[in-house]
Amino acid sequence: MRRHDFRSDTVTLPTPAMMAAIARAPLGDAARGDDPTVNELERLAAEITGKEEALFLPSGAMANLAALIAHDCRGGEVIVEEAAHIYGSEGGGLSVVAGAIARPIRGERGILAPSVIATAIRGSADLALAPTRLICLENTHNASGGRVMPLEVMAEIHAVARAAGISVHFDGARLFNAAAYLGAPIAALCQYADSVWFALCKGLGGPIGAILAGDAAFMRKARRAAKMLGGGMRQAGLIAAPAIVALQDPYDGHRRDHELARRLARGLAALRPGLLDAPEVQTNIVNCFIDDAAAVTRRLGERGVLAIGRGRKIRFVTHRQVDDVSVDAAIAAFADILEGP
Ligand SMILES: *Cc1c(COP(=O)(O)O)cnc(C)c1O
Repeated sequence: MRRHDFRSDTVTLPTPAMMAAIARAPLGDAARGDDPTVNELERLAAEITGKEEALFLPSGAMANLAALIAHDCRGGEVIVEEAAHIYGSEGGGLSVVAGAIARPIRGERGILAPSVIATAIRGSADLALAPTRLICLENTHNASGGRVMPLEVMAEIHAVARAAGISVHFDGARLFNAAAYLGAPIAALCQYADSVWFALCKGLGGPIGAILAGDAAFMRKARRAAKMLGGGMRQAGLIAAPAIVALQDPYDGHRRDHELARRLARGLAALRPGLLDAPEVQTNIVNCFIDDAAAVTRRLGERGVLAIGRGRKIRFVTHRQVDDVSVDAAIAAFADILEGP
């Protein structure tokens, strides 16, 4: 029985071209700046994001932590969307490791309103308050089903931050999915943030790693922070090489993935009213809502369809290694469970 794995876009395996690139990658000690493959990946990533410098890191969580530290957030407030990954899904590192205080704000389906942010910003005049240091954006927004923050909203939030003299950090784990949905270049989204990271191992289909980018002064502090966090890697060209393939020969299937997700959502919505609450699926994540999601997910798994179920929510993510057959299989398995005894 073929397995259809919708648990995450992180489950994709490296392509033959990526494996071949690993075998021929020139290597060195990356922590000393000596690995030509890592240096090439960082150069390429800086170019694509439109930032002065980029840094290759093992994970997105480390990129977020390095950014919080480099933005001097210790003892200050960081404005986050209430369901943001950096706040709710990284073990509290924002406080425990970076020493920052989260200021969660509810967005409209994950999308923060610039006017609400403006009123939440605290200055440093009142000695009793922890001043706001940073605004964190997440695009696409994972928890709300891959929602895309429009460019105008990013621009307005950036302007609010500038007026208050604080910085913007952009969690772009799925930046390429957002850009594909908006039909905009990657740099067009990144221009509204002082720092940005994106995953090499999600929508892009690479095996490992994240890129953090920003201006030279910020990146010097971020490199120091990453080293402190244990992110100084040695012959990291081994994992940078497939990432270069992912960037140079960018996976052009994001629109296909989004269309698959929309078809899955339509199919599920037709099975039972109320199963989907989102009016539209924009990118590659479909959330559906049902009692005892964990049990339903287990029964989907018995039918070869893997997803993640927690509480009342089941999450499906589309990516390079699922297709129309997978979507049909998922809808049929779900129908079977709903009809079942
Ligand atoms: C996956 C993800 C992260 C964390 O990335 P890791 O590489 O798993 O540490 C952060 N933010 C968002 C929005 C994510 O989807």
